Amino acid sequence: MTNFCPNCGAAIDPNKNTCEYCGTVINQPHQSQPTPPPINPQAFGGFAPQGQPQQTPVNSNLPVKSKLVAAILALIFGGIGVHKFYLGQAGKGILYLLFCWTYIPSLVGFIEGIVLLTMSDAAFMQKYRCRLQ
Ligand SMILES: [Zn+2]
Repeated sequence: MTNFCPNCGAAIDPNKNTCEYCGTVINQPHQSQPTPPPINPQAFGGFAPQGQPQQTPVNSNLPVKSKLVAAILALIFGGIGVHKFYLGQAGKGILYLLFCWTYIPSLVGFIEGIVLLTMSDAAFMQKYRCRLQ
């Protein structure tokens, strides 16, 4: 039985426990770890572990929105909820309009604009159910 060096892959004399090519010390077969039990597909909730993980396809029905446009709207017109209407949250937009006289929506909108700018594209698409160009 021939051993193979785990470091360089060279065949090693079974009577030696060091690789003559790179000097790596080889564990003899009887000292090696026991082979792990075969993977039980049931342990993965019925999903077979092999194969590509299921990629969520980009839903082409989702509206295309720009994170930058949303952020700019929030920063400039955040007080009247323009960015909320843009992002399809008309209910919240109306709330901003109703309370715009308190200037609180302006503050919240400004903060949301900063959050939108720093948000990752993936988080943006997930949160607002839209896709980027
Ligand atoms: Zn080697």
